[in-house]
Order: sequence, then structure tokens, then C-alpha cells
Amino acid sequence: MRYVSNKIRFTAIAASLALLLATLAPPPARAAAKIQIVTATSDLAALAQEIGGDRVDVESIARGYQDPHFVEAKPSFLLKLRKADLLVVVGLELEIGWLPPLINQSGNPRIQVAAPGYFDASRFAQILEIPKGVVTRAEGDVHPLGNPHYWLDPANGQRIAKGIADKLSEMRPADAAYFSQRYDAFAKRLQEADQKWIEQMKPYAGRKVVTYHRSWPNFTGHFGLDVVGYVEPRPGIPPSPSHTVELIQLMKRENVKIIMVEPYFDLKTPNAIGRDTGAQVVVMMPSVGGEKEITDYFKLFDYDIALLKKALDAAH
Ligand SMILES: [Zn+2]
Repeated sequence: MRYVSNKIRFTAIAASLALLLATLAPPPARAAAKIQIVTATSDLAALAQEIGGDRVDVESIARGYQDPHFVEAKPSFLLKLRKADLLVVVGLELEIGWLPPLINQSGNPRIQVAAPGYFDASRFAQILEIPKGVVTRAEGDVHPLGNPHYWLDPANGQRIAKGIADKLSEMRPADAAYFSQRYDAFAKRLQEADQKWIEQMKPYAGRKVVTYHRSWPNFTGHFGLDVVGYVEPRPGIPPSPSHTVELIQLMKRENVKIIMVEPYFDLKTPNAIGRDTGAQVVVMMPSVGGEKEITDYFKLFDYDIALLKKALDAAH
């Protein structure tokens, strides 16, 4: 009896305490704290920021000037991952060399693979170069599941943004209208910009180029360029003398005057190929933040297309 009455008294006290706290506490924020988003790359951060607006905090692990296949895993990333509500990754094993141990060591159940806070952007994008049959990484090919540089097509940017908008709405139903309105505005701006970019690239349709790494199939496909060869013998394998000789022959035969190179590769081999073939070496930016002025997803295409136009004009 005594126990019961104590329990009743305790319940009564707890109830009045809760009521008191409710009266004293500041009005609950119209939404809780901002959604904490960590992305593997800066491009995904740019897209998440477009959709999330002021309801999210976004941070990227890789910088725009780094090779996203090989990012140095710093301990500071662990702290970011520990408090993340959502982790957005490129997938297709792009980050396999550095991200899995970080996810594991973060001890954050929300962002583990297959948890609701783990968002694989490749599931929303059009993926090119998917190998047929079984492919292993034994030969060093770093694209075993298809080409992971898919964000370099604005149409994929829009698809990923839609996926992010749906995910954020699922996490914060109260803000669903906000995210959906931001997605609509983003998609409209992107389509307008894309029409302008396509128009700018039209005069160069079908022009042949060589790229260092296979970073550009989505970009060149979307903007009408023809990639006929690569400085790397396979994705992730450094140039070899025999492959370089073959590439030079091919470029002379096909009259290729442009070599597109990512900012994190050694220019020695591309420059040598350029001297031999008369081709220009163009350092293209594959990611937001690769240069200071590339502060968002739009400026990434603005920058690369301006650079390419200049090089293609000069190559005539
Ligand atoms: Zn790659």
C-alpha cells in the first residue's frame, strides 16, 4: 500500500513538475535543431545546401581540389561524423579507400550503411560505364561498379537534389513544404542555366578530346564532346610509357587538340603529350571548391565551360 501511494505521489509530483517546466521553458522552436549533414564530397554538399537552406548545417569531408578516390582520413572528420544526422556519399566505391573506417569508428548508428541516415546519391543518378559481368579491383581499376563522377551532368545534379529533398522531408515532415519549394526553385534555375551552357557548347559538338582520368563521361556526353582516349591506362593506374606512346599516335591520327586534366594529377605526362601532339593541356575543375570562385554547383559549370570554350577556340 505504502509503495503504491508513494508511486502515486511521485507521479503527481512528476506531472506538476512537467507542467511547470512546460510553462517556464521557452516556446519550442518551430523545428528542432538544424539537420546535421556531412557529405563525402563538396559537390554533394553544394546540392544539400541548395535544398536544405537554413534548416541544415552541411559540411564536406573531401575538398574540391582533392582526388575524391584518395582522401586523407583526418581524426577531425570523426567528430563531424559522430554528430551527423545524415551522411551523403557518392557511392559506387568512390570512397571505399577512406570512408568506411571513418563511418565505423564514428560509432554513430544513424549513418551506418543501410541506416536511414546513410544516403547513397548514386541511386538517384544516371550511371555510365557500368561493367558487364563480374569486375574485381584486382587490376587496380577504381571504377568497378560504373563511373562514379556522375555529378558532372546537370541532369544528375537535379536528380540527386530531388533525392535529397525527399530524404530531408522524410526526416523533418514539418519542413517538407520548405524543402520541396527549395527543390522547385533550384530545378528551375538549373534548367535555365543548363540551356545556356548547352547553347555555349553547341559550336563544338563532336570535337575530340582526351582526358587524364575517366572523370568526364557524364559531362562530355551532356555537352556533346567526344572522348577518344585517356592518359591513364585504366582508372586509377598511373600513365605508362607504352600506353603514352599509343595515346600520342591516336591523338595525331584523330587530330585531338585538347587534354583535360584534373587539378590533382601530375602535369608531367600531359605536358609531354601536349608538346608532341600540339594539344593544349586544360586543367578542368571536377568539383565545387576546386578554385576559390567555384562556390556552388552553378559556378562549377560556368567555370569549366568558360575554360573549355577558350581552349577549343584556340585549338582551331
Ligand atoms: Zn574516378
